[in-house]
Amino acid sequence: MIKERTLVLIKPDGVQRSLVGEIIKRYERTGLKLIAIKFLVPTAEMTEKHYLINDGWIESVGKKTKEAYEKKGEKYPFDDVVEGGRWVLEKLKKFLSSGPVVVMVWEGNEAVGIVRKITGGTEPLSSDVGTIRGDFTLDSYSLADGDSRAVRNLVHASGSMEDSEKEIKIWFGEKELINYRLVQEQILYDVNLDGILE
Ligand code: ADP
Ligand code: MG
Repeated sequence: MIKERTLVLIKPDGVQRSLVGEIIKRYERTGLKLIAIKFLVPTAEMTEKHYLINDGWIESVGKKTKEAYEKKGEKYPFDDVVEGGRWVLEKLKKFLSSGPVVVMVWEGNEAVGIVRKITGGTEPLSSDVGTIRGDFTLDSYSLADGDSRAVRNLVHASGSMEDSEKEIKIWFGEKELINYRLVQEQILYDVNLDGILE
C-alpha cells in the first residue's frame, strides 16, 4: 500500500461560513490521518507559487472553464484558455489573501483521490451532492466571472501526488509534518487483526 499525502486548504469563504469543523470532520471520519495544520493569511506571492508549481495549471483551469461554458451552451468569456487561466490566477491571489485560511496535510491510502472525492468538482453548481462543495455552497463560473472574482468553493485539494508533494513544501517545513501512529490504523490497515481479542 502506498500511503499518500495530500494538501487541503480551507479557503477564506470556508472560514467565514464557520465550516472549518464540518470540513475537517468530513476528511477525518474516513480514517485519513491529519499530520500537519496551520492557520494563516496567505500572501499573493504564496498563492501564485502554490498554483504555478503545477505545470500546465493555467491552461488546464482555462480549458475546464471553457468546457463548462460550452456544455451549458454559453460563450466562454475569454479569448483563449491561457488568458482565462491567467485571469483566474489573479482573482485567486486576491481571494486567498482576503482572510485567514486553514492549511492541512492528510495522509493515508490513496489520500489524494479520497480527498478529491469528498471535496467534489470545482464548480459548486455541478459538484455532486454529498461532497463539501456540493453540499455547502452554490457558486458558479458564470456568477464568479460576471462579478470578476474567483469561484468560492470552500476548499483547495491537491490534484495529484506530484502536485501534493510540491504544494506541501510550499506551506510546511519538514519538521512541521508529524510522524505518529493513530490507534485506528490497526483496523484500517493491519493484515491479520490479531491484536484485538483478549
Ligand atoms: P480545483 O480547485 O477543483 O482543483 P482548479 O485547480 O481548476 O480547480 O482551479 C483552482 C481554483 O480557481 C478553483 O477552485 C476556483 O476557486 C478557481 N476558479 C477556477 N475556474 C474559475 C473561473 N472560471 N472563474 C473564477 N474562478 C475560477
Ligand atoms: Mg486544482
